[in-house]
Amino acid sequence: MEPFTSGLISLDEALTLIRQPLTPVRDKVSLALEDASGRITAEAVTSPVNVPPFDNSAMDGYALRLADLALSKEVTLAVAGKALAGVPFQGDWPAGTVIRIMTGAPLPEGTDAVVMQEQTEKVGEHIRITADVVAGQNIRRAGEDIRIGEAVLQAGERLGVARLPLLTSLGISEITVLRRLRVAVFSTGDELVPVGQPLQEGQIYDTNRFAIRLMLTKLGCEVVDLGIIADDPQQLRTAFEEANRQADVVISTGGVSVGEADYTRDMLETLGSVTFWKLAMKPGKPFAFGRLSESWFCGLPGNPVSAVVTFYHLVQPMLTTLLGMKDDGRRPLLSAVAAQAIKKSPGRLDLQRGHYHYNNDGILQVKPAGHQGSHVFSSFAKANCFIVLERERGSVQAGETVTIEPFNTLLED
Ligand code: AMP
Ligand code: MG
Repeated sequence: MEPFTSGLISLDEALTLIRQPLTPVRDKVSLALEDASGRITAEAVTSPVNVPPFDNSAMDGYALRLADLALSKEVTLAVAGKALAGVPFQGDWPAGTVIRIMTGAPLPEGTDAVVMQEQTEKVGEHIRITADVVAGQNIRRAGEDIRIGEAVLQAGERLGVARLPLLTSLGISEITVLRRLRVAVFSTGDELVPVGQPLQEGQIYDTNRFAIRLMLTKLGCEVVDLGIIADDPQQLRTAFEEANRQADVVISTGGVSVGEADYTRDMLETLGSVTFWKLAMKPGKPFAFGRLSESWFCGLPGNPVSAVVTFYHLVQPMLTTLLGMKDDGRRPLLSAVAAQAIKKSPGRLDLQRGHYHYNNDGILQVKPAGHQGSHVFSSFAKANCFIVLERERGSVQAGETVTIEPFNTLLED
């Protein structure tokens, strides 16, 4: 008998199959910077100015000309004026004098160096310099950080706190970004009830649509919420058609397995085409990916843990590819020591919810965050990473090294 995991494709193969046919969206919109948070740059951004815009002081101290120092080692110098940030020194600068200068103030013309205040002594109305002075010291040159015309951002970068203030510093007030992706989402299942209604016997609350909406919003997508769809081929068909009409990507949850009320895969086949629908991954074995006439389709499993894990590992890279992003925001993999034994059977990649921390000896340790059943969402609430257990690996003993993938901001906050 064939093992039940044969014929299942790996996560890497699935990612290749998902990404290959995608063409990134091209439509652009121009937005004011304050409205651009979370959006993706549509083109490179070049600087219209030099940063800093003018030569200025890196210290509070005195601007000087080396020729004035050469007069004598023991020279004391009169202070001929002041340069403050935003208030340049004006007027003549007599020979044998220095100019008091503050951090960020424009350099008076002819300045060779700035000596910091701590390396000077007051001698009445004069100062004496108490350390060696090197030409150019404590001076920030115009354009030293960014030159006019230099690219400061590339296309496909997310505009967050690390990038938007930089654009402000360049005087840029508008930016060209990609249009938002429109993503339609619906849950399937006769047992599902929206939060806020009392549960009848056999019913449960719809967790998945809420979780997916949250993640889509974080990824900057426009969400078309089609609600809960009954396990009924006609209603499912209507939802598929409506979603396909409205969105770039359609995401459903539930009904994608081999049970009696599982119609999702067949509907994808009827209305479009199925690229794959079985993954050698736990959780997430049933995950249908394919094409509808106007949109891409992802059929996520019904168990909430599986729905979130497959969204994180498959849908997130898909959406970032559609947005032409170089980086899908996932964190680098790390090695950690298993603080306790972890159960696993060979055959599928296992993405367990784990909690990592540094122990008192500074060693990165990880342990599973509670029960790993696909229906146990509480394990997510206790976790800060995935424990990535390779497909052919069996159980892990305490003390063995495992790979972990810290959660990114999609799950973290
Ligand atoms: P299914 O894939 O439709 O067979 O669903 C698998 C399991 O996930 C079943 O126990 C469902 O009741 C449960 N489930 C399906 N959809 C949801 C949902 N939206 N929220 C919470 N649980 C769900
Ligand atoms: Mg179902």
